[in-house]
Amino acid sequence: MTSVRPANQDFSREAIEAVLKRRFFYGPAFDIYGGVSGLYDYGPPGCALQANIVETWRKHFVLEEDMQEVDTTMLTPYEVLKTSGHVDKFSDYMCRDLATGEIFRADHLVEEVLESRLKGNLEARGQAVTPVEEDDQKKKRKKKVKEIKAVKLEDDVVDEYETILAKIDGYSGEELGEIIEKYSIVNPTTGGPLAPPVAFNLMFETAIGPSGQLKGYLRPETAQGQFLNFSKLLECNNLKMPFASASIGKSFRNEISPRSGLLRVREFLMAEIEHFVDPNNKNHPRFKTVQDLKLKFLPKDVQAAGKTDISEITIGEAVASGMVDNETLGYFLGRIYLFLLKIGVNPERLRFRQHMANEMAHYAADCWDAELHSSYGWIECVGCADRSAYDLSVHAARTKEKLVVRETLEEPIVVEAFEVELDKKKFGPKFRKDAPKIENFFVTRNQCELEDLAASLAKDLKVTVKVDGVEGDVEVEGSLVSIEKKTRKEHVREYTPNVIEPSFGIGRILYCVLEHNFWTRPEDAARGVLSFPPLVAPSKVLVVPLSNNEQFEPITQELIIDLRALGVPSKVDDSSVSIGKRYSRNDEMGTPFGVTIDFQTVKDGSITLRERDSTQQVRGSKAEIIAAIQKMIKGVSWEEGTKGLAAFVGQEQD
Ligand code: AMP
Repeated sequence: MTSVRPANQDFSREAIEAVLKRRFFYGPAFDIYGGVSGLYDYGPPGCALQANIVETWRKHFVLEEDMQEVDTTMLTPYEVLKTSGHVDKFSDYMCRDLATGEIFRADHLVEEVLESRLKGNLEARGQAVTPVEEDDQKKKRKKKVKEIKAVKLEDDVVDEYETILAKIDGYSGEELGEIIEKYSIVNPTTGGPLAPPVAFNLMFETAIGPSGQLKGYLRPETAQGQFLNFSKLLECNNLKMPFASASIGKSFRNEISPRSGLLRVREFLMAEIEHFVDPNNKNHPRFKTVQDLKLKFLPKDVQAAGKTDISEITIGEAVASGMVDNETLGYFLGRIYLFLLKIGVNPERLRFRQHMANEMAHYAADCWDAELHSSYGWIECVGCADRSAYDLSVHAARTKEKLVVRETLEEPIVVEAFEVELDKKKFGPKFRKDAPKIENFFVTRNQCELEDLAASLAKDLKVTVKVDGVEGDVEVEGSLVSIEKKTRKEHVREYTPNVIEPSFGIGRILYCVLEHNFWTRPEDAARGVLSFPPLVAPSKVLVVPLSNNEQFEPITQELIIDLRALGVPSKVDDSSVSIGKRYSRNDEMGTPFGVTIDFQTVKDGSITLRERDSTQQVRGSKAEIIAAIQKMIKGVSWEEGTKGLAAFVGQEQD
């Protein structure tokens, strides 16, 4: 029997969820205690699939790009995350139903209510919503709105709703509050009124150590650990620029309303790269290797116009036109694309969406998300941002550690800069215990601040400043401090690198790989198949003896030992059900190859090899079959890998 994967099969989330649950790919954590939303445990196949995705990621990025991998702690002291901006800004807005206490994430609520009203408008006008339109309207967050009311909207209201939706990721809490009020948005299930949105910080707070004095957080991203080790990593790279660090580890976010299975959880595995680059030269030496790849781009100006039209152009064209800010960013978009395809993402369901100006962090130069499409709609699975010099600069300013690159210049350059000179002998007697703080204040000013201070000194012959840790205003006379513009020759250029950061959420990617590879045999909808590429499949080979005849036992054992010794994860199924059933159970696990041992094997040592998707079979000696399996695990096709082996018909009955 051969059954081919149908090109356009209707996807059933129910069917895949049944398989994922039955085979324990993953499931709710603390299940027998009733579970906690947003927390999941991975079972054996999910765990193996995740390990294989991570291993592929390591090879594709860390190994091929010679990155500096680090493993940094998850517990992070308050000061670090205060400096990075997370304590003040890493929040989402929530609003509470005044009567029931139910909590909504404000932007999601606005989005789902407006989308549902737009849909109601189309229905009232007798215009059906096509599946594509639904995707583009991000149907993922529609679930809570129970009924779509067919109500006509004025054309200008439709325009207003569309503009809000296109900009939904960038509104402040106050703006969301105004929208909620203006458009009378209420609890969609009860119709009850809502309190104005308030910021909710997404970090899990904790105390480090028994005293309770050292406040800390579970990290919300792995990036900060990489920035803090920048100088050591630069040393590890023999002080050569550009270079990248990488880290794989758990991050934690106290999501307001976790939903959509693995797509929005409170603890997840991240794989992040920080590529440090000279701000004056963001070209990439390997750009040529990706420049001809054609990607699906959704640029910011298209979104700002309330549209989702895709431009399918090469990375080379996208960078040349300025749509993608620089070569290094373009290079990583290409590498992300190749990685995702390698692990089984469907390229038709992958697009690169640019952040709009109101959505991007204020310091970011450009930012693109690799979005994957699933039955929940489009979702960001990899963020790829140019974070400029922000992180290194703020940590350097806070700690007074220089996080810079020093580059010896072939030709010295002449620079003009403001310099501070302090008459330290007079500082001590005048300011006593505060003297060191005030001295430190002057030597840590940047050029713009020095320029202002120099102007005040020239005008008033004194400066009045506020100094951290010193009460009141501090007045310093011109006889104690001089600030002047001087010219000097420099033989070393010192700069703070910019950072391009590709940031992968492994759980989201894993879930989309599951959906993109799931289908059911046309002849039997109960028979699900997960067509993972062999590279990431949890197990590679299923060994099935024809029956429990004891002659098969030593051959089975020998084969499995040989396969495992070669590093090929394999399993035996010697249960008494038919071969067809045993194979079909493993199709659900995504095992790409099956080997059958039968009476012919006892006679001449030959075995049968079966391919999961086509169910085609070939026969050959053990050595031939193992060699074919090894080639195909590395990515060689079935046709190529089994060339020269005889086709085999038979054995697979239900
Ligand atoms: P961000 O730092 O917010 O750009 O997130 C980086 C990546 O982490 C995203 O592209 C997602 O893949 C992943 N991610 C962020 N938040 C969550 C979450 N709550 N659940 C699962 N994955 C997440």
